[in-house]
Amino acid sequence: ITILAVETSCDETAVSIVRNGREVLSNSVNSQIESHKRFGGVVPEVASRHHVENITTVIDNALMEADVSMKEIDAIAVTEGPGLIGALLVGINAAKALALSHHKPLIPVHHIAGHIYANHIIEPLKFPLLALIVSGGHTELVIMKNHLQFEVIGETRDDAVGEAYDKVARTIHLPYPGGPHVDRLAAEGQDNLKFPRPILDGYDFSFSGLKSAVINTLHNKQQKGEDIVPEDVAASFQASVVDVLSQKTFEALEHYKIKELIVCGGVAANNGLRTRLTQMCKDSNINLHIPPLHLCTDNAAMIGAAAYFYYMNNVRAELNLNGKSTLDL
Ligand code: ATP
Ligand code: MG
Ligand code: FE
Repeated sequence: ITILAVETSCDETAVSIVRNGREVLSNSVNSQIESHKRFGGVVPEVASRHHVENITTVIDNALMEADVSMKEIDAIAVTEGPGLIGALLVGINAAKALALSHHKPLIPVHHIAGHIYANHIIEPLKFPLLALIVSGGHTELVIMKNHLQFEVIGETRDDAVGEAYDKVARTIHLPYPGGPHVDRLAAEGQDNLKFPRPILDGYDFSFSGLKSAVINTLHNKQQKGEDIVPEDVAASFQASVVDVLSQKTFEALEHYKIKELIVCGGVAANNGLRTRLTQMCKDSNINLHIPPLHLCTDNAAMIGAAAYFYYMNNVRAELNLNGKSTLDL
């Protein structure tokens, strides 16, 4: 089964051709980061416009790189949500046009399912598993006991981790997206600013308090004329984030007696988080899976991987499919 998958939920225009859920024949991504940089974040209207400009080229590139024709495609998959509505609609309309004109079934895919299935490309998923999804828009803990069976046990009540990283980065004048810069500085600083570790009951997260603590600390230091060491701000913030994420993840692994851990989303690139989880998993015999970076950030290969299972389960969308800014897994 060969699937052409489209992903436009945020600021990446992405199209991929995936065979049988694992074999990536092409993975074409057009990132808009440069266009959003000067605004310090993704501007939805700008994102939609870029998707419109790029989508046909990205589709053509994906087919060309895979060296397949539309005849050889069995189905068209597309991210249905969650995401920026105007951005989603561009991908959905492109997918509908392809499905209609080439008489192919249309498969709606949940964006977070895609992030989890990115791992399936590297190594077949083993159940039961716990997935920690950490990205610019999401922070979630999801249990899967079988294919396409998702149980969300925890999520953020306010900011996503990546969003908190980007906001903290801005306060210490780092360019957007700030996550990688904070990560880099953190390695050179000390965890000496005593930021809070926001631990909630259950498995939910909250990062807006931590973000405010960072801003308040900087503000107070400025008023007192004290030096601000960006490396220490980064190290202290990252230490708090890594403590909270790893603690909750391991509580869940123990409570549900799960031995497979998947980490995905852009923040899975974080060195502090990777180091901590690697160590903890080694100590407690947990198998840790983190896909390579190009499959961690938004891409369409992950949508094609998940779509294979939706396809096999006879999940189909009609041509009146709509984008959904929020959507339950
Ligand atoms: P969505 O939330 O819908 O998946 P997104 O585009 O916001 O979409 P990703 O592309 O998965 O999310 O990830 C981008 C986020 O990851 C940004 O917030 C970025 O700062 C963060 N990020 C990337 N590398 C690192 C890193 N090394 N450390 C911390 N954060 C990082
Ligand atoms: Mg992105
Ligand atoms: Fe994403």
